Amino acid sequence: MSFQVFGIAVSKGVAIGRAVLVASSRVDVAHYFIAANDVDPERRRLEAGRDAVVHELETLKNELPDDAPHELAALLDVHLMLLQDDALIGAAQQWISERHYNAEWALSAQLEVLARQFDEMEDDYLRERKADLEQVVERILSALTDENNAGALGVAERDFAGEDPLLLVSADISPADMIQFKRSVFQGFITDIGGKTSHTAIVARSMDIPAVVGTREASRLIQQDDWVVIDGDAGVVIVNPSPIILEEYRFRQRQAELERARLARLRHTPAITLDSVRIDLHANIELPDDASTALAAGATGVGLFRTEFLFMNRGGRLPDEEEQFRAYKTAVEGMQGLPVTIRTVDVGADKPLERLTLAELRHEHTLNPAMGLRAIRWSLAEPHMFRQQLRAIFRASAFGKVRVLIPMVAHLSEVRQIQEAIRSVRQQLADEGILATNIELGVMIEVPAAALMLPLLLRQVDFVSIGTNDLIQYTLAIDRADEAVAHLYDPWHPAVLQLIAQVISQARAAGKSVSVCGEMAGDTAFTELLLAMGLTQFSMHPSQIPSVKQRILRADTARLAEVLPQVLQSDSPQEAAGCLAHASAFGAIGERA
Ligand code: PEP
Ligand code: MG
Repeated sequence: MSFQVFGIAVSKGVAIGRAVLVASSRVDVAHYFIAANDVDPERRRLEAGRDAVVHELETLKNELPDDAPHELAALLDVHLMLLQDDALIGAAQQWISERHYNAEWALSAQLEVLARQFDEMEDDYLRERKADLEQVVERILSALTDENNAGALGVAERDFAGEDPLLLVSADISPADMIQFKRSVFQGFITDIGGKTSHTAIVARSMDIPAVVGTREASRLIQQDDWVVIDGDAGVVIVNPSPIILEEYRFRQRQAELERARLARLRHTPAITLDSVRIDLHANIELPDDASTALAAGATGVGLFRTEFLFMNRGGRLPDEEEQFRAYKTAVEGMQGLPVTIRTVDVGADKPLERLTLAELRHEHTLNPAMGLRAIRWSLAEPHMFRQQLRAIFRASAFGKVRVLIPMVAHLSEVRQIQEAIRSVRQQLADEGILATNIELGVMIEVPAAALMLPLLLRQVDFVSIGTNDLIQYTLAIDRADEAVAHLYDPWHPAVLQLIAQVISQARAAGKSVSVCGEMAGDTAFTELLLAMGLTQFSMHPSQIPSVKQRILRADTARLAEVLPQVLQSDSPQEAAGCLAHASAFGAIGERA
């Protein structure tokens, strides 16, 4: 039966493929394809994992003290029975043989199938056995991981041709898990929760594959293996589409490919407006190797390196100075002399670290993490970590042009502490005979307080970068990751527009460089708006650079600036966008003349 699921469009394009349902708790299970001649060894690996658990449980049972409750032995019997059931291991082996899934993936895929069957059972007692099944699978997964220690998920490329593309469907995917899906087998994502600028959505966008989040119930309605179309432009998921719909979407896919190829030709064209204003198009990156993608897309620098992703998926072991130094150096060298803006860690809120540090332990009790110990607050609470990161950044600055950017600053006292930390780190490096150049210091403007006291901040720093994702979140009091209030997350809100316009104009007047690195910068719906405000530095996902550049080439900043007062006075997004469209139309005529 064909049906549609509606959600929030977060990453554009069309993806067509088969659904792979992954429970949120198991997104971090290794997902990769095995080679055809590894099928038998992989089936044996799964059996060995199962046998290890059988052995473990039998030992446990034999060693039960005489006075152990009777239920305990009965429970172990149930688990042992499930382990021997062909519906689990036998069926999982079929996923290995037929789909070439690795053992962990095959097992969790089969768990999904069985869990649904349990959910539909009438009998309460039987329905509750689902928890036992999950525990058994958990044990096998853990045995497999101990023995294989594959760790990573979804990083292997498909090694056999002719298979259907796969789309991942999950209730939720954390940003930490999402980052691991880079270069994975999945060609699209669908989640039940999340907002347009949640970090999960941001990472999906950085991968440049279609994604729809906030569907609320996709993971419940879509079945394993269903044919699914993700319309990443409209935020719609079409399940089991009719042949006509499928053909329509295949056509759109081909059109998008052609458009992409056409835009790629702009790569070497400088981004200069019709009235000769040169615009810097920088890239937002998450991992050091993303620098090559940024260069290939024509970025003239990195405007935001979200270093927190280096701190995730590490089983709690955080990267030390040396490891960070190597990562930053890779990014800096990768940009071949172009500037790289390294943002100090922005952990907390929807990007929690594994709880290891004192600060994180405190964070556990934070009621509202977005307003808690996040970003610079975390760094200042962990001075050792902060110093390590600053040292690594300063050392990497010997290999190119580096700037340091601090997230979520709201107090002048924070700036003073940052400056003091920088001074002392430079002194320490100098004492060790390591030359630490004087790199530019910038702060992100993402808390309304920072925007409102900008003149004071500008006296202390070299540049500012507007993080519109958070600025909108904190100005409008809308959790950016919460789909329940996603409709209120409005970049066109007059208060937001006032703040952004004010920051850009005050920074320019003070002769300080200002950029926008939130998602607004890469969304062509806002290109003219930001140009009208006088912005000359944008930072976005590399894949967004060509389309934004195309808009810039057709824009006339002087004409756009003329309508800015009207835009700021508008009482609806439609009216604001209308003023800009009018000014843009003149620009387009100018281009032809
Ligand atoms: C922002 O808040 O706009 C920003 C760029 O930072 P992040 O999305 O990483 O919070
Ligand atoms: Mg932010």
